[in-house]
Amino acid sequence: AQRNPGQPEFLQAVTEVMESLWPFIEKNPRYAEHGLLERLVEPERVMMFRVSWTDDHGNVQVNRGFRIQHSMAIGPFKGGLRFHPSVNLSVLKFLAFEQTFKNALTTLPMGGGKGGSDFDPKGKSPSEVMRFCQAFVTELFRHVGPDTDVPAGDIGVGGREVGYMAGMYKKLANSAASVFTGKGLAFGGSLIRPEATGYGTVYFADEMLKTRGKSFDGMRVSVSGSGNVAQYAVEKAMQLGAKVVTVSDSSGTVIDEEGFTTEKLAVLMEIKNHLYGRVNDYAARVGAKFEAGVRPWHVPVDIALPCATQNELDENDAKVLIKNGVVCVAEGANMPSTIEAAKAFEAAGVLYAPGKASNAGGVATSGLEMSQNAMRLSWNREEVDARLLQIMQNIHAACLKHGKRADGTVSYIDGANIAGFVKVADAMIAQGVI
Ligand code: NDP
Repeated sequence: AQRNPGQPEFLQAVTEVMESLWPFIEKNPRYAEHGLLERLVEPERVMMFRVSWTDDHGNVQVNRGFRIQHSMAIGPFKGGLRFHPSVNLSVLKFLAFEQTFKNALTTLPMGGGKGGSDFDPKGKSPSEVMRFCQAFVTELFRHVGPDTDVPAGDIGVGGREVGYMAGMYKKLANSAASVFTGKGLAFGGSLIRPEATGYGTVYFADEMLKTRGKSFDGMRVSVSGSGNVAQYAVEKAMQLGAKVVTVSDSSGTVIDEEGFTTEKLAVLMEIKNHLYGRVNDYAARVGAKFEAGVRPWHVPVDIALPCATQNELDENDAKVLIKNGVVCVAEGANMPSTIEAAKAFEAAGVLYAPGKASNAGGVATSGLEMSQNAMRLSWNREEVDARLLQIMQNIHAACLKHGKRADGTVSYIDGANIAGFVKVADAMIAQGVI
């Protein structure tokens, strides 16, 4: 804490990982040798830079850009870029730290990184967004490359923004190397990448449910958020027979007792992805209830899928969900549950998956995009989806293997942390003190 003042999210992520690793390390003390843990909590490199650009009124705007290159132990730095006013060093260090373990869990050769800016895309014109993306890449481009660091999207960065950044990268680097993932299909993107995080979260939850002889069929599901991850979590949960009764954004929650349909999801996607609107516009269009300023967790459900942002589900929310009979919570977002909430779920015997396990399908499919780019070919939808499902099943199996407690129950928190850690730590030990 003394070395990282004012970084509560980073300290929270490190605390959560270290608490679950500690008993394992006591049994396997070689993992505490050669300063391994001290090295693991220190990013290899941190870049902070000025991004200046001109808005539509001719005014110069100044934002702060970041790239955290956390670990290259098992492959090039890899992780998304987030554009949101809440972005700061602490948030991105936590995300880059988590990404390192998540990427290890996918078993694909990717290290961990994260980046972004405090730029707020809300209310900006398309040309302002393009100018900002281009200005951001004029600095970022010198730090990234297909064998160095491969950025992607995250909150506020979707296909449009990745396209502008990949375009500017090409121009500056004079290289067609596809350094970004999440690209458009016309210039090296992979099928299923937009769907991958949401689909993967539901695939993972389905594996958890199977361990108790249950499935999504007929279940009531709440989803938070309404962006990329949330939309495809809704779609896959519906395909598996569930009734999805909520979505949300930072303005409030939509509650729809009738449940989502394919037609309603198309309306949500139109409003969110093309009109850059709010969920209350969506509620009005489909005639659903909208509750301003509240989160979805008071709505009784069997399965909760938090897909918005960090710390959006606290201990009180967890208690309400438990009281209402929730059986499974799988995180599409990164660290949406506070440490206390996660502990409450585990203590109550709820099937609880931390984001680094359940939302790894996005980066796994980015890894598949990198493979396709390197081979200069593209797989069809079914092939990528089948690989995604297989990867999620493998991550689930790794969590079971490493998360089994003496009493036979499973901690997915411990399982994900230990399985990811062992892979990164073994690679670090083999490569010496660097
Ligand atoms: P989007 O920008 O597409 O959507 C983000 C959603 O979360 C929006 O509904 C947004 O609402 C809401 N949100 C964001 N910040 C806040 C906040 N401070 N308070 C309340 N609501 C908020 O992002 P993604 O769907 O890509 O990302 C969602 C989560 O999933 C993030 O935690 C991200 O790190 C994680 N993730 C994403 C992956 C991906 O492939 N995209 C991969 C793995 C994890 P509003 O519009 O009002 O801001």
